[in-house]
Amino acid sequence: MRKTGSYDFATVHAERLLRDELKITSLPVDPIAIARDRGIMVEPMPSTSNGVSGMLIRLNNDFAIGYATHIKSPGFQRFSVGHELGHYFLPGHVDAVLPAGATHHSSNSGFVSDDRFELEADHFAAGLLMPSALFTAAMRNAGEGLDAIDILAGRCITSLTATAIRYQQLSSEAIAVIQSKGNRIEFCFLSDRMLGLKPGRWPRKGDALPKGSATFRLNADPAKIAKAERADGPPTAPTGSSISPTWTFLRRPSGLEAMAAR
Ligand SMILES: [Zn+2]
Repeated sequence: MRKTGSYDFATVHAERLLRDELKITSLPVDPIAIARDRGIMVEPMPSTSNGVSGMLIRLNNDFAIGYATHIKSPGFQRFSVGHELGHYFLPGHVDAVLPAGATHHSSNSGFVSDDRFELEADHFAAGLLMPSALFTAAMRNAGEGLDAIDILAGRCITSLTATAIRYQQLSSEAIAVIQSKGNRIEFCFLSDRMLGLKPGRWPRKGDALPKGSATFRLNADPAKIAKAERADGPPTAPTGSSISPTWTFLRRPSGLEAMAAR
């Protein structure tokens, strides 16, 4: 059985909302339709708003959501809206991110922030767009590995990054999802089975990529990144992730040990 993570309550909150209140029983889940159904206006933000993934805006008792467009990925944009819905629906969030007098909250979604409320909203968005019951059912027909994540990202209209993180959460396999940018690790998620293998010191945020690794070589070549090349084979057509950091999909603990033994 899965161990409980500190942000799982936010994921479960979204899943209960979908199941018990919104009665949504199929993929893909449309966060913009959910917001508009609540009377929340949803609008794209100018593409110059670099660095901000979205905004929750409050005017008296009315709310609006803006989502970033500098990353032209429906998956990124829908996750951004899901993140703002997290701030709207999660207990205590509106008061925390919109304290008295504040009219807007700027978000940095995608599991890259250290802020508790940002991470809770990210986990809410993951549960909203990839609820465990529907996602697990889809996993059964998706194959395995990176190709499975590609297929599931298409089913959920989510980014490869968000889909990979959800996949390792709900998989019974030993999986590590590591996102890096340049020669540094941005985050690392290990599945319960992977943790059960007791990998020792596992890769952490800020760690340098091991020189000589496939990811190190890939990240050193901007042309390969621009073409969305993969270290495990020929590039596939991008399915919605144009997020610039590359990430590595490891199925064998040996890759992890190589990183830890750096
Ligand atoms: Zn936020």
